Amino acid sequence: MHHRLSQALRLAALALATLQFLTTTSAQRPPAQPNAAEILHKMQKLNVLGSVLYIVAHPDDENTKLIAWLANGKKVRTGNLSLTRGDGGQNLIGPELGDALGIIRTQELMEARRIDGGEQFFTRAVDFGYSKNAAESFEKWGKQEVLSDVVRVIRTFRPDVIITRFAPDRSAGHGHHEASAILAEEAFDLAGDPKAFPEQLEQGLEVWQPRRLFFNGSTWWKKDLADIAKSDPDWFSVDVGGYDPLLGLSYTEIAGRSRSMHKSQGFGAAETRGESLEYLKLIKGDRPPNRGLRTFSRGSI
Ligand SMILES: [Zn+2]
Repeated sequence: MHHRLSQALRLAALALATLQFLTTTSAQRPPAQPNAAEILHKMQKLNVLGSVLYIVAHPDDENTKLIAWLANGKKVRTGNLSLTRGDGGQNLIGPELGDALGIIRTQELMEARRIDGGEQFFTRAVDFGYSKNAAESFEKWGKQEVLSDVVRVIRTFRPDVIITRFAPDRSAGHGHHEASAILAEEAFDLAGDPKAFPEQLEQGLEVWQPRRLFFNGSTWWKKDLADIAKSDPDWFSVDVGGYDPLLGLSYTEIAGRSRSMHKSQGFGAAETRGESLEYLKLIKGDRPPNRGLRTFSRGSI
């Protein structure tokens, strides 16, 4: 009798577990449907030509304020290329490290882009932890391999404008950061050259020459950047803090939500409103005809 009871209990537990499994599986809902305002926002975006590719080294390097403003305010196609997947970093929310952390951070970046409207790209570069300089990074990665990946992303995404987060020198700090700017500048020159990485053309890609490359400076590193931008014709400033009446959010609020997706790094970014200036230095390409925001769109130049 006792034996039968325990068997019955086991069967009941199994049935319950199966039921729970089925409920969980069937609870996976179809993707959320956009509301009327979001649909109109997407339709407006279809009317805008132009694209921008932001290039960084790690998950969390990207400037979500600029990305949110470009993708939603300027309504241009906006990509973020992270050379690595951040697999060499710390994990503040779980035991996963190395490859497993790289998978988590990949998902965090994808989730961030779903919120800020950008598209996410990577290269094969491994985040091997701190690097003293770009030369060391290139030695460990294989410079030509990673450069070919950056060229491939440019030929695939076809950006009018490329923006780097870092300068191509030791001011970038981490060697991966410095390397990301060096590769961006070299790839800018090579993506339009049919002699560069011709195997990509045989695979069906076409050459693509981006129009301009900017460096996204920060007052974090350069305290007097606001003054420099007023007088130096190579520097451009843009206010990314506008409010989007269709989305009911400011671009900086969207940016805060996007940045908060870096959960394995313990991020919780504030959602702000009001003016927010970003500074861009023209590094390559022709000078925009005016210092205004039309800089970014091929169609409006
Ligand atoms: Zn970084």
